[in-house]
Amino acid sequence: MKQSFFLWGECLGSREVPRLWQTGPNTTAFPAKFRHRNLALCCPVCGEIWGRVWYEEATPEWSFETRNCPKHPDHRMQLLGWLEVGRGSFLCRFPEHVDPLAYADDLPERLLRHEFNMLMEKYS
Ligand SMILES: [Zn+2]
Repeated sequence: MKQSFFLWGECLGSREVPRLWQTGPNTTAFPAKFRHRNLALCCPVCGEIWGRVWYEEATPEWSFETRNCPKHPDHRMQLLGWLEVGRGSFLCRFPEHVDPLAYADDLPERLLRHEFNMLMEKYS
């Protein structure tokens, strides 16, 4: 099944993923398999849906997650002196190898270039 990434409506590429994903061995819940849900990433500063993760055979419902877009750093985190995490990133914030948005070698090259650029902007 295809998993595709869209940044501001432009496709950054696709890859094949299993039709179901399974919770990891470290979860407190019993292991279970789930169908993928399409994901929209919405910026809490500008209100734009800047990112979408689309699955070929997803559930009918979309999930929405608040995450700063590439243009808007998270000033709350900067004020607290914490590392800003996730701005403009599609990848999961708490890496676990079973998460469908965890880093993997087969992620599309354009998506990886985008993630690299976001990291360079964050630390420059
Ligand atoms: Zn924004």
